[in-house]
Amino acid sequence: MMTRRLLIAGNWKMNLTLAAAQELAEAVKKESRSVTELDVAVCPPAIYVQPVVATLKGSNIGVGAQNAYFEKEGAFTGEISMGMLKDVGCQYVILGHSERRHILHESSEDVNVKVLAALSVGLTPIVCLGELLKEREAGMTELVVRRQFEGSFSGVSLNDMKKCVIAYEPVWAIGTGKVATPEQAEEVHVAIRKMMKERYNQEVAETVRIQYGGSVNDKNAKEILDKPNVDGALVGGASLKVASFMGIINGGRG
Ligand code: PEP
Repeated sequence: MMTRRLLIAGNWKMNLTLAAAQELAEAVKKESRSVTELDVAVCPPAIYVQPVVATLKGSNIGVGAQNAYFEKEGAFTGEISMGMLKDVGCQYVILGHSERRHILHESSEDVNVKVLAALSVGLTPIVCLGELLKEREAGMTELVVRRQFEGSFSGVSLNDMKKCVIAYEPVWAIGTGKVATPEQAEEVHVAIRKMMKERYNQEVAETVRIQYGGSVNDKNAKEILDKPNVDGALVGGASLKVASFMGIINGGRG
């Protein structure tokens, strides 16, 4: 069994001021100086990406965006390209977050062209998959996640797939305080690995990191991160305070 490095990423969503974003980045940088055994990233609103990259210079903390457009350049008023993110020092981009799928009506086809665009410029896509409560209750979790997986990664080569990160984020657990049990997370993570094995091969299934996301905090992180198929966390609310974000990071340090 291959060992995968955990990735703890903070999704700041549409929060913070410039000063607060830089202050939070500075604090995470200071507090995580001794963290070498796992990967840490923060994903500020796009407009704060560049100053946060500057603040985090000299640290091992990666910076990600929360979305971008799939076209390279041109007449797409209001949009930002993957290349622009790369240009200002971004390493990751969250794609297909449930808030984008459900509030901004992004389909897996929309996510797919973004995944391909991100990979083409060397950004690491963090691709979110997850079911609604009514879908879980109807026993459709695996089916929904499979559809999102197939749709979002359509046309992604075997080598490119190895560069991706998947975040399993049950929609009913995001921002609700209702965390999935470690067993519920593990079960879906195992199912996603099976999908990768079927579609690609065993090596891809064992290489790709699958984060869990949904109400992770410093109290519940350790037991979730201890599961063998959980390779980190995508953290919303609890990533906005240095104490809770560091608590989650420390929960992943074994
Ligand atoms: C998220 O935004 O990806 C998320 C999981 O949010 P929260 O941790 O607040 O549930």
